[in-house]
Amino acid sequence: MPARLLDGAAVADRIRTEVRSSVERFAAAAGRPPGLGIVLVGENPASEIYVRGKMKAAAEARVRVDLERLAQSASLADLLSMVDRLNATEACDGILVQSPLPAALGPDAERRVFDVVRPDKDVDGFHPINVGKLVQNRASLVAGTPSGVIELLERSRIAIAGTRAVVIGRSDIVGKPMALLLLHRHATVTICHSRTQDLPRVCAEADILVAAIGRPAFVTRDFVKPGATVVDVGINRVDDRAMVERLFAPGSKRHADFERRGSIVIGDVHPAVEQVAGALTPVPGGVGPLTIAMLLRNTLRAAEERAGRAG
Ligand code: NAD
Repeated sequence: MPARLLDGAAVADRIRTEVRSSVERFAAAAGRPPGLGIVLVGENPASEIYVRGKMKAAAEARVRVDLERLAQSASLADLLSMVDRLNATEACDGILVQSPLPAALGPDAERRVFDVVRPDKDVDGFHPINVGKLVQNRASLVAGTPSGVIELLERSRIAIAGTRAVVIGRSDIVGKPMALLLLHRHATVTICHSRTQDLPRVCAEADILVAAIGRPAFVTRDFVKPGATVVDVGINRVDDRAMVERLFAPGSKRHADFERRGSIVIGDVHPAVEQVAGALTPVPGGVGPLTIAMLLRNTLRAAEERAGRAG
């Protein structure tokens, strides 16, 4: 029996509706809406699309967005002073610096920028204070993608406590916080990465398998215990016709999408896993929409906590 597909888009819609009604309550009490400052450096086309998506969702939730653009040629000092200005702006509750930053800013630019965002405005949950609080299970601002995965699992009534969970990927923005969130919900967690030996065998022990690798269709059937829940975080744009033909049956919707656009987005999980898994997040329409919904929820939360402190 094919896996039950976990509808991330529908769960994200519900979260956004909840956020919107809380935003209206906040605005009525505070006399202003929650504010999100987005900093976009340079002209990366993928970043433009992501930022547009975030702005549209924020507008629908009645969150005010100020988009601050810096030229491709901006220096790290320019960027840090922009973040400082947003740190000091009262009506700005959340700050998001869109990554990736231009390579010319240097290999440690992202870390240096994330380090100067005020922790109470850190709606991406990347500041070391918020990461430390996450380790201690007392964070209020947690990275959007892994916290979105938890929302999706919980609202889909997938039990976490007592299960074996395996996370493939150990990045600061997905893999590590994902593992901590599962641990705090009482899963027995293993983190795998590029040096893990015998990866399929380790993964096949999982009741919940999260793939956050960035390699199209990497997780094949032999990684998956029959009936397991598989969460596909990967977003991989594929323009290789041979790969599309290998992965999807002729005449399928994915083929038609590829013919129309010249590329499609696929996850880290091979389509054949649908025949083995008990539940699966599709790509697109699984984890992706939740990331933005959680960003809005974090912005609301930051606004409420700052207002609570001020009051
Ligand atoms: P990353 O490149 O920072 O980390 C990838 C991780 O995969 C690394 O920890 C690495 O050890 C591991 N890895 C690489 N090759 C491996 C191999 N052969 N075997 C086992 N592990 C291996 O990537 P990231 O930022 O964590 O993102 C991962 C994926 O998730 C990407 O496709 C990215 O686009 C996607 N992503 C999606 C969302 C979303 O909203 N759905 C958000 C962030 C990232």
